[in-house]
Amino acid sequence: MKLNIQDTFNKELPADPNKNNTRRQVFEACYSFVTPRVPSNPEVIHVSKEMAENLGLSDEDIQSKDFLEIFTGAKVMEGTEPYSMCYGGHQFGNWAGQLGDGRAINLTEVVHKNQRWALQLKGAGETPYSRTADGLAVLRSSIREHLCSEAMYHLGVPTTRSLSLSLTGDQVLRDMMYDGNSAYEKGAVVCRVAPSFIRFGNFQIFASRSDTVNLKKLTDYTIKHFFPEIEGDSKSNYVQFFNAVLDKTLAMVIEWHRVGFVHGVMNTDNLSILGLTIDYGPYGWLEGYNNNWTPNTTDRQNARYRFGNQAGVALWNLYQLANALYLLVEDSKPFEDALERYKTDFSEAKMKMMRAKLGLTLEYEGDVNLMIALEKILELTETDMTIFFRLLATVQKTTDTPESILEKAKPAFYKPEELEGQILKDWKVWLKNYLSRLKVELQSDEDRLTQMNLSNPKYVLRNYMAQIAIDAADQGDYSIISELHEVLKQPYAEQPDFEKWFAKRPEWARNKVGCSMLSCSS
Ligand code: AMP
Ligand code: MG
Repeated sequence: MKLNIQDTFNKELPADPNKNNTRRQVFEACYSFVTPRVPSNPEVIHVSKEMAENLGLSDEDIQSKDFLEIFTGAKVMEGTEPYSMCYGGHQFGNWAGQLGDGRAINLTEVVHKNQRWALQLKGAGETPYSRTADGLAVLRSSIREHLCSEAMYHLGVPTTRSLSLSLTGDQVLRDMMYDGNSAYEKGAVVCRVAPSFIRFGNFQIFASRSDTVNLKKLTDYTIKHFFPEIEGDSKSNYVQFFNAVLDKTLAMVIEWHRVGFVHGVMNTDNLSILGLTIDYGPYGWLEGYNNNWTPNTTDRQNARYRFGNQAGVALWNLYQLANALYLLVEDSKPFEDALERYKTDFSEAKMKMMRAKLGLTLEYEGDVNLMIALEKILELTETDMTIFFRLLATVQKTTDTPESILEKAKPAFYKPEELEGQILKDWKVWLKNYLSRLKVELQSDEDRLTQMNLSNPKYVLRNYMAQIAIDAADQGDYSIISELHEVLKQPYAEQPDFEKWFAKRPEWARNKVGCSMLSCSS
């Protein structure tokens, strides 16, 4: 197996001089060297071939002993020096101090076809940043991360990727619902891949310690490698950098809204500086459309990270990043300006995204009201977001009526019998307005269907789908992981063989742990 290794992070940035794997506070360093733990009986159970190809790996490479050993932590590649990053973060709104890669170990960086990729094992044992935890990951959460990152990529949502999913052969003790019921679960390792895993928290940790020297080193490094359009290192470059991060973060959240994704733990240590969806933990997909929904049971009370709050939280997180970068600029005005424009930019971007979801190519002032009204009626009775938009695309603007559209959209409603009285009336009003709005469009029904189907996925990784794959994998059957990976590669296409995955959440999954209820335990 030949990878084009070109390390930069652990070559150009300051290292922790202490090479012992003991838990500690690490100062004036971006990372600590650490060796992955050797798994007792590793087994690769799924590989994303698309990701492997990006790295220049062939089918033969994937089957090799090297692949198994390197991507499970059994062997360190020659010429590489694995490390864990030091970062801090605001967790649920409070500054938590140093966090760091508690169970992530960066193996190396690879350049293939002009693209830089950092390879990182998640769950390969303790690091200096493990704090009170074990540095391991269990099979269920690793399946969720592996499948979802690849599904998000194919949906066109900016995300970190996943190369491989492996069992370690070790047992890991977890109290899944934090209720005193600990049990052993199968240990697993995912090899995550992204141009870089740098987070907001990497900048925050230096700022929190007034370490401007290293804050500057990290920022210059990030700009040089990942924002090459920004040249030089004057103060205005740091402002440009902040603006670029703001744009990317905003674009990412818009995409989450488009596909109905709830991240679940938008702490600043879980926000990528490249605007990639990162750290797939207690995330979830909207089934019934609900702005107040969060899958994360740890956040049930305040629902800080609920679907409808993600744009606001992203802005809050950007404030924290601005506070850190301020140390390099010493002028708050440009940051305030950037944060101020976020609100208008977000509204505009959301409108654009919603127009595409609704098949509207022209811009009308009244569209804002149409969109606001839609968000309200979708919540009146439980309505499956994915199915609803997909079926709405089949509207025939001259022959359909509100009644006939409701009939077509019936499979999207969890309790169609609730469509009566005021709820029914509200739905009909909206559909009537939508039909009138479609009539001013020049597009044919057919073209609108094609266009809408590019914005509205048919297949997403519904929470219960991942759970079915997990339950089977626990019994040693990995076929559902492969099947889901396959269907989610073409989320916008009609795939008659996979029609069964275009279905509402079954009733058994409504209140099941792992489906609608997820804790941070992973
Ligand atoms: P999260 O909320 O999952 O992003 O995790 C917050 C922090 O806890 C990060 O620094 C993680 O690296 C760390 N962490 C989470 N789970 C573990 C674990 N099992 N062992 C060590 N560190 C962990
Ligand atoms: Mg994290």
